[in-house]
Amino acid sequence: MRGFADRLNGIGISASAAMTDKASVLRAEGLKIISLSSGEPDFPTPSHAVEAAVEAARSGDTKYPPQAGKPALKKAIQAKFLRDNNLDYALDEILVANGAKQIIYNAMMATCNPGDEVVLPTPYWISYADIARLGGADIVQVPCPAENNFRLSAAALDAAITPKTKWLVLNFPNNPTGACCPRKDMEAIAEVLLKHEHVWIMTDDIYEHLVYDDFQFCTLAEVEPRLKDRVLTVNGVSKAYAMTGWRVGFCGGPRDLIAVMNNMQGQSTSGINTIAQAAAVAALEGPQDFLRERATEYQGRRDLVVSLLNAIPGVECHTPQGAFYVYPEISDCIGKTTPEGRHIQSDADFVMALLEEKQVATVQGAAYGMSPFFRISYATSIETLREGCRRIEEFVLSLK
Ligand code: PMP
Repeated sequence: MRGFADRLNGIGISASAAMTDKASVLRAEGLKIISLSSGEPDFPTPSHAVEAAVEAARSGDTKYPPQAGKPALKKAIQAKFLRDNNLDYALDEILVANGAKQIIYNAMMATCNPGDEVVLPTPYWISYADIARLGGADIVQVPCPAENNFRLSAAALDAAITPKTKWLVLNFPNNPTGACCPRKDMEAIAEVLLKHEHVWIMTDDIYEHLVYDDFQFCTLAEVEPRLKDRVLTVNGVSKAYAMTGWRVGFCGGPRDLIAVMNNMQGQSTSGINTIAQAAAVAALEGPQDFLRERATEYQGRRDLVVSLLNAIPGVECHTPQGAFYVYPEISDCIGKTTPEGRHIQSDADFVMALLEEKQVATVQGAAYGMSPFFRISYATSIETLREGCRRIEEFVLSLK
């Protein structure tokens, strides 16, 4: 016993990071790995954002920043919320952090007490659950079944809320399913939430610009302004602007919540890298047209992947309208054996065998709370996607 904290019990590296790491090890051994596990855009960061960072570094913008974010970035975020979401946040209702992940961490840590419940429409991004548990809270899953396009039903949500509910986390477009929430569903969800006045709602809108088939994105605080003082609207530059490595996320929310989150942040970091903040200002204030162009590119990849996967007997893939993931169902593969003698008893067995026998890295549905499925990220080239799907087909057809 080496004296580690109990709060870390059961909390490990995320399944997608574990898969990406395992794929790197196999790649270092000389195997040609097709990586469909990582949730990050393959596009470059826009050059005007890179230039702004260089300029910030050269001009001496290298001192401690204000802990909650530099005024220039907060103003850019304020304008972004108005422009894209019709949401009006004052500057002290905005917080900048090291990625949306740290926003979520600050929020849970600043609010959760042991015994509190965090309601997660399921499947969900694994970090919500682990961060909530770090904060001492319990997870309550609300299934969003494939038959319902992985959407959240207002009735199921209503049934999951108890007097102990602290947070509901909404994430549409969703990681891992790509599901979106149409405005009429959001209105029904809002109706439920108006009844439960003790519940805070976190809306993780990080995939807002990655929507397809003319889907109209909406966010809760705008759909139902009466909820705005209980909603934390979370976003960041990672996915839309292909800036995952810069680590800039942000949120808008009620002033008192932002203040305690900022207190939390003050004891873990003294503000966000100034150079990355300058890049984020340029991304948010610069040209936005390429967002639509990239979404069109992702849509083409989605169409390709969905059609290739659905051509495989034993794999069933819904057509998502957002993010860059698909979440195919593999019930027919469970209980079978691979040519090398591996028994597939779960989706975790499936993805491990697929990696070891066909060198394709994906992530098991168990990591997101709904099995038997697996997650494929299509934020990669058409050639890689074709080859990945070809290998998945070979693998599934080889199961006996
Ligand atoms: N939310 C969701 C749903 C995500 O998929 C991710 C990235 N995997 C994040 C938040 C974290 O984003 P950031 O890079 O801003 O921390």
